[in-house]
Amino acid sequence: MTQDLANFAAERGVKYFMISFTDLFGGQRAKLVPTQAIADMQEDGAGFAGFATWLDLTPAHPDMLAVPDPASVIQIPWKPEVAWVAADCVMEGQDVAQAPRNVLRRQIAEAAKEGLHVKTGIEAEFFLLTPDGQQISDPYDTAAKPCYDQQAIMRRYDVVREICDYMLDLGWGPYQNDHEDANGQFEMNWDFDDALVTADKHSFFKFMVKSVAENHGLRATFMPKPIEGLTGNGCHVHVSVWDAPGRGKGKNAFAAEKGEGPTRELGLSDQGAAFLGGIMKHASALAAITNPTVNSYKRINAPRTMSGATWAPNSVTWTGNNRTHMVRVPGPGRFELRLPDGAANPYLLQAVIIAAGMSGIHSKADPGKRWDIDMYAEGHKVEGAPKLPLNLLDALRDYEADDELVAMMGKEFSQAFLKLKRQEWNSFVSHFSRWERENTLDI
Ligand code: ADP
Ligand code: MG
Ligand code: MG
Ligand code: MG
Ligand code: MG
Repeated sequence: MTQDLANFAAERGVKYFMISFTDLFGGQRAKLVPTQAIADMQEDGAGFAGFATWLDLTPAHPDMLAVPDPASVIQIPWKPEVAWVAADCVMEGQDVAQAPRNVLRRQIAEAAKEGLHVKTGIEAEFFLLTPDGQQISDPYDTAAKPCYDQQAIMRRYDVVREICDYMLDLGWGPYQNDHEDANGQFEMNWDFDDALVTADKHSFFKFMVKSVAENHGLRATFMPKPIEGLTGNGCHVHVSVWDAPGRGKGKNAFAAEKGEGPTRELGLSDQGAAFLGGIMKHASALAAITNPTVNSYKRINAPRTMSGATWAPNSVTWTGNNRTHMVRVPGPGRFELRLPDGAANPYLLQAVIIAAGMSGIHSKADPGKRWDIDMYAEGHKVEGAPKLPLNLLDALRDYEADDELVAMMGKEFSQAFLKLKRQEWNSFVSHFSRWERENTLDI
């Protein structure tokens, strides 16, 4: 039954709704709507001038309406008089094709037609910095190997506990929090769910972490490589496919009795292997979406960090329970894509994984050789595995050249995304840097 937002407000004392949508750059945009207006907005949506956001719309386009999806509503734990609700963008009665939540909903609907339901868990790493974003907020967090640092996580206990308590209250099933591999870096984990639910939670998580950090006088960032020389912010995605939607429901189509062959040995079914094959086949192209910023390419293909490893991939390879590859199969029935970073748009991230994976299922794609080696030490031994794109422009070119992925993600979306990201690249390369002066002045 559809949740009635006016009733939701009355039951919980909610005074305002934040009707929120995510643009192509992953920015969250919202209108604050008083509860007395929510019944109409639930029907018709809140009006926005699309041109004012990153959706590749012109000032001449008609109003865009953001229609709240009541299934996503969350009473904001640190501001309970406000409720956040994810919205779907509509223009003149049609879904806006390039709006990220619509792109994901299309992928989910396509997979559902074949009886498949993708469920995902994400690990959205972040740094806690000083409010100006320049330094790690904890001056004592300086260990050379800071991962799991007990003393350092306790110095940020107030922030981490507050966020984890909220996730407990919201029923997300959080189960662990740790200090990560870079100074100032943290990770908080909660249970996997349907891809759309995970994408909404991912959006809300970023909003929550930033808001709680601000309330504690800090600045949280999900930037892929905020500090040179330290491990970057990954956003690994764990993926499985089920025969029914809903957390903990149905049968995992990726799980198989252990058998012979590179994937069966790990308990991954043939369907799981084909989905993985699609990810491998489209990896260089999908990097444009999983690693969508100039800075993303300072995390992948990076030189070794201070802690000893980047924990990020360089090449398109997969393996068993070994964290030096692009894809890890940590146990039966799922795989982990380690490529994405903290700049990935929560909706496009899920959408491109489903698109690539489903194309793999359709073509029974072969994931190729399983490399059970330490890629950081022995990567030079790998033959035939493509290198990941070296920068955003290469990734955009790879995406544009991948007709199959473009078709799966949708032409309108792909054109809009490529256009805006090319503009971003051009803005970056037209920027004069200190490096140029230092390396060119005396030539
Ligand atoms: P690691 O750091 O070892 O990669 P984490 O425990 O940090 O793993 O995160 C694992 C994520 O994978 C969690 O969100 C978890 O709920 C999710 N997950 C576990 N099993 C599955 C599955 N079958 N399908 C999708 N996601 C899963
Ligand atoms: Mg106005
Ligand atoms: Mg983790
Ligand atoms: Mg991690
Ligand atoms: Mg991981």
